Amino acid sequence: MTAMTDSAEPILLQTLSPSRAADFKVCPQLFKFRAIDRIETPPTVHQARGTTAHLALQRLFDEPARQRTPERLYDLFRSAWIELRDDEYPELFATIEEERAWGVESLAILANYFGVEDPTALEPLDRELDMLETVGDMTIRGILDRMEEGPDGLIITDYKTGSAPPERYAIPAFFALKIYGVLIRRRTGTTPRRLRLMYLNGPTVYEIPVTDAQLDAMERQLEALWTAINRAIETERFPPRPGRLCDWCAYRDMCPAFAGSE
Ligand code: SF4
Repeated sequence: MTAMTDSAEPILLQTLSPSRAADFKVCPQLFKFRAIDRIETPPTVHQARGTTAHLALQRLFDEPARQRTPERLYDLFRSAWIELRDDEYPELFATIEEERAWGVESLAILANYFGVEDPTALEPLDRELDMLETVGDMTIRGILDRMEEGPDGLIITDYKTGSAPPERYAIPAFFALKIYGVLIRRRTGTTPRRLRLMYLNGPTVYEIPVTDAQLDAMERQLEALWTAINRAIETERFPPRPGRLCDWCAYRDMCPAFAGSE
């Protein structure tokens, strides 16, 4: 599949990530900004917190169980931030005080993790799994945060450092995780039994059961989405779909839906 930029350079869209699939479903224009035009937006403090916390949580399980303490997690967060700061977020904070306040807030959010599960009683099967699987005629690539064996089968988990959406919006938030469910079933031959979204800023945990029939339906939905993406690229039509996400959208200033309104 190919797309053209303004400079007529073809862009090959060879793989689709669960996040970009979710973008297209929510707003095709948002997908275009990110996946076709590849317009980079300045990194935010929220992205920096998310990346650093994911690294710290991943490494927590490298430790022997008895050392998976809050203090150890905070140390891992600090060392991960030192690794990431200069290369990925060099100008994120104007002052040391701002950076320190962000760090204090980040550790308070991480502390919530110990309120939702006990990491000393858990041995994940895998963390930060690099998934690359073919579904129909598309290749899907993404990183799954964690997978473990639960009482009734596989559980796959996605960490979020932001706040949870209200419960009425929780099911749409599982869209990307259901795609990971499809990928895990293809890779391992085993159907995950539960999907879990762990929002540390709260904290709130949403968990849903999943079945083969639901994952079959998700595969069909993905194939339809891929067809719709192909059609959008061929016709160069990516309609904006204004909604509650617009309030946080980094592309709002350049979005045709808001042209001339601000
Ligand atoms: S501002 Fe709203 S409509 Fe425009 S790209 Fe972002 S999410 Fe889509």
